[in-house]
Amino acid sequence: MADDPATIEALLFDLDGVLYVGSHRIPGAVETLEFCQEQNIPFRFITNTSTRTVAAIADKLNAMGIPIVEDWIFSAASATRDYLLQQGSPSVHLLVRDEVKLEFAEFEQNSPDPDFVVVGDIGAAWNYELLNRVFNELMNGAELIAMHRNKYWLTDAGLQMDIGAFVAGLEYVSGKRATIIGKPSSEFFSLAVNAVGAANSKTAIVGDDIENDIGGGNRAGLQTIMVKTGKYREDVFTAARAQPDYILDSIADLPALLTKH
Ligand SMILES: [Mg+2]
Repeated sequence: MADDPATIEALLFDLDGVLYVGSHRIPGAVETLEFCQEQNIPFRFITNTSTRTVAAIADKLNAMGIPIVEDWIFSAASATRDYLLQQGSPSVHLLVRDEVKLEFAEFEQNSPDPDFVVVGDIGAAWNYELLNRVFNELMNGAELIAMHRNKYWLTDAGLQMDIGAFVAGLEYVSGKRATIIGKPSSEFFSLAVNAVGAANSKTAIVGDDIENDIGGGNRAGLQTIMVKTGKYREDVFTAARAQPDYILDSIADLPALLTKH
């Protein structure tokens, strides 16, 4: 547990479950962002969301009354595009929604023998035929990339299974390990830490996911702040190996933590 909150100079906020759940803003979210601006605490947003482009994520948040600019959002989908660009000009089989595919327009997407299978969020479109096609692509030499391997998240309709189970299943049958681009990857955290311009040890991640936000943040050398909103569950938190430096009921309590010294 915690060092001294006075040493926190910059913040990274997870989005889903921290600022909003489903279509609802979490009370205090806007006030906390305003507090950070008033106090000149630099912050960015870091999300494993792969259902939308960063522009669409910003639009969604703006529609909920949360003033966020797209340049401040680091998403697993945009980091995946950057990663693929570093691999030359590979062919890809993209498992993402059509809207997100547009961001990958420079890659060959229709090869029968792709260099990479890229797993993102396709909602309810998973089926045996698709999984079996991907399995064969992996057995024929494709590498497996996962935008993230989250287990579940909280929606207006309750907990919803995320893509982690499909990634794990594909690893199991192919014998390959997926390259994980989003949280908990330290490289992904570094992109956002570089943008806030503080040392890792003076940057804190605020998240509702004990493994990806808190465990990943700890391994990246950040300070970690768990919020009990979103997907937070007492039993999962208690059983987890990862532990945050600080725990708050919600983002609304962050100003008090940062001024308590
Ligand atoms: Mg979250």
